Amino acid sequence: MTNLAAPTIQHFINGRVAASSSGRTQPVFNPATGSISGEVALASVEEVNAAVAAAQAAAPAWADTAPLKRARILFKFKDLLEKHHDDLAAAITREHGKVFSDAKGEVVRGIEVVEFACGAPQLLKTQFTDNIGGGIDNWQLRQPLGVTAGITPFNFPFMVPMWMAPIALATGNTFVLKPSERDPSPSLMVAELLQQAGLPDGVFNVVQGDKLAVDTLLQHPDVKAVSFVGSTPIAEYIYTEGTKRKGAYPPRVQALGGAKNHLVVMPDADLDQAVDALIGAAYGSAGERCMAISVAVAVGSVADRLVEALIPRVKSLKVGNGMDPQVEMGPVVTAAHKAKIEAYIDEGVRAGAKLLVDGRGLKVAGHEQGFFLGGTLFDQVMPEMKIYQEEIFGPVLCIVRVPDFASAVELINRHEFANGVSLFTSDGNTAREFSRRIEVGMVGINVPIPVPMAWHSFGGWKRSLFGDAHAYGEEGIRFYTRYKSVMQRWAQTIGKGAEFTMPVAK
Ligand code: NAD
Repeated sequence: MTNLAAPTIQHFINGRVAASSSGRTQPVFNPATGSISGEVALASVEEVNAAVAAAQAAAPAWADTAPLKRARILFKFKDLLEKHHDDLAAAITREHGKVFSDAKGEVVRGIEVVEFACGAPQLLKTQFTDNIGGGIDNWQLRQPLGVTAGITPFNFPFMVPMWMAPIALATGNTFVLKPSERDPSPSLMVAELLQQAGLPDGVFNVVQGDKLAVDTLLQHPDVKAVSFVGSTPIAEYIYTEGTKRKGAYPPRVQALGGAKNHLVVMPDADLDQAVDALIGAAYGSAGERCMAISVAVAVGSVADRLVEALIPRVKSLKVGNGMDPQVEMGPVVTAAHKAKIEAYIDEGVRAGAKLLVDGRGLKVAGHEQGFFLGGTLFDQVMPEMKIYQEEIFGPVLCIVRVPDFASAVELINRHEFANGVSLFTSDGNTAREFSRRIEVGMVGINVPIPVPMAWHSFGGWKRSLFGDAHAYGEEGIRFYTRYKSVMQRWAQTIGKGAEFTMPVAK
């Protein structure tokens, strides 16, 4: 199925839109209508190499640019992002499908990281010790790595690139972004706005593409750091392939993977608040968030009350085109992804879970070809079922019943994913115990989606993150800089003669 009138979404290399000559493209869909809205170019090895060469050529001057000057460009970029807030959100809704207000929220969360990165001069400040002994002073530098690369997923086509690029740029690196081929347009808007803000050519580049582009970046000897966000199998692949680069010093690699996030409802929780939280966190963005809640853990006597309250809410979700302000949940991203989610629902039924609300077969009037699914709710889900173990990444909420708090903690700690988790309770000690005992990277107490703010870092544990560094915040600054310690003294304080003992403070 091709549409000859559809525009081709190109690369952005060395300060200009670069028409691809690879001869390879892939359709981009509007998920609400099911029609092709464009074709995205898929880069050849030569095109990726050209982007890395542009970034490499721009790296020395950018690294030598004063942090304050770099921050001023980011300030202008922030201003432009605010001016184009609606355009960015509309591009996200058009290619991803999420509702417009949610897309606007995504843009806000991305802008917040730009704001954080504007503090580069302060963030790059290090420590100084006057006279560690013998007239020697000791201080540190945090220096840029050089060319860095980001590979990003479809579900946040603006926010996730913003977890990486502003920090990489603020700390003096150049950057090559390989966005998701399913919603590639926001990346080009970012490139153009950065250029308008005054970013020199070659400092920020975009290569559209697939595995070939990713593999070329992973193996390129000039790429000094690779930041990845996506599903766990690919994260694992990126981490192992990247860190074992042959014939060259391996880059730094951080790879954020998939998730299966639980929300525990204690019998003492405010039920209305817990239900509101579950509806928003499970079905917002059609469940296509890495921090979406996909498992409700009902503790003890709360289970029947919770189920009773959830059923009518899930049934009455307003599903439709994300540009309609009345709509609460848009379509999923592609027909293939919709089929995958439906297969999981079939599998849950086969495995014996109780299907309370079935979202399969939903048709939205006027959008019959759109990739829509209704909200789906399962009860009596068991830990050994595939629908519990695997990430579905769709509007499907599974209820697991457990007898007590300890069993809830044990259940969650046994899961291989550990991105986010939430607890609804009115008891302070239960909350405290939960925060301390739970083996998950991001914890919400009466907060369903605990995505840390830009100055706190984001990341999961276990198979939700490969590598040491979490994204953005201080961990981001560390990831994109190398630490150097300098010791200095001058002739007047240097004693005569060679010293053969380990230097100690005198
Ligand atoms: P994905 O893993 O399919 O794709 C992510 C990126 O990897 C894309 O740029 C894609 O082009 C590239 N890619 C895909 N297949 C590849 C391959 N075989 N080799 C090399 N590169 C490849 O993920 P997605 O479907 O775009 O995004 C959804 C996933 O991302 C979910 O699993 C979600 O949990 C995860 N996610 C995680 C976080 C987090 O912070 N942990 C945040 C957002 C999304």
